[in-house]
Amino acid sequence: MSIRGNISEILSDLPEGVEVVAAAKARTPEEVLEVVQSGVRIVGENYVQEAEKAYEMVGGEVKWHFIGHLQKNKVKKAVKIFDMIETVDSVEVAKEIDKRCEQIGKVLPILVEINSGDEEQKSGVSPKDAEQLIREISSFKNIKVMGLMTMGPRFGNPEDSRPYFIKTREIFDKIKKLNLPNVEMRYLSMGMTNSYKIAIEEGANIVRIGTKLFGERNYVEDK
Ligand SMILES: *Cc1c(COP(=O)(O)O)cnc(C)c1O
Repeated sequence: MSIRGNISEILSDLPEGVEVVAAAKARTPEEVLEVVQSGVRIVGENYVQEAEKAYEMVGGEVKWHFIGHLQKNKVKKAVKIFDMIETVDSVEVAKEIDKRCEQIGKVLPILVEINSGDEEQKSGVSPKDAEQLIREISSFKNIKVMGLMTMGPRFGNPEDSRPYFIKTREIFDKIKKLNLPNVEMRYLSMGMTNSYKIAIEEGANIVRIGTKLFGERNYVEDK
């Protein structure tokens, strides 16, 4: 099917209030432009450099979310392009985001990435440390914590992802109840091509979809 066909299929059976992020890693700026022209309103980028190229062609009509692992030395460029960083998982990176945002007079919405499977090689904060991290990040004036994001372990059977989505949802609810200053728990970003329907059942209101929008990637995952 065409990109346009894929998108209308996904958008047509998405519950109200759930937003699609087009996960654009390894796609050309032309492909990104096509998904945007087909009705997707948020583009998700894993790499700052790829984002800059796509941004040149697509522009600021859509929202740009950073969904990759953010290195400190990329933060300065990232805060200029992105409307949200979904993958904050340390005070160090948050502090750098705060500093770079202050320099350009911006308050940036972020999500905290949860390593819901507590996997050693994965990025994200461990579920047991999430609350403490959010309390620390909430003191930064140029950052606004707006929810959580998780990848979860990779499975062939999407049903196996469910417990990790439930766990992330529980952390989300718990932190929301705390009513921390400068924290507004509004977004829960969970689920990809093979798992997004289950993620929505467990409370996701942002789903990040690559393959099902663009087709298969000719490219090896880096995590
Ligand atoms: C690649 C990627 C996705 C989308 O993966 P698909 O399986 O192609 O839908 C979602 N989130 C993140 C963080 C990704 O890197």
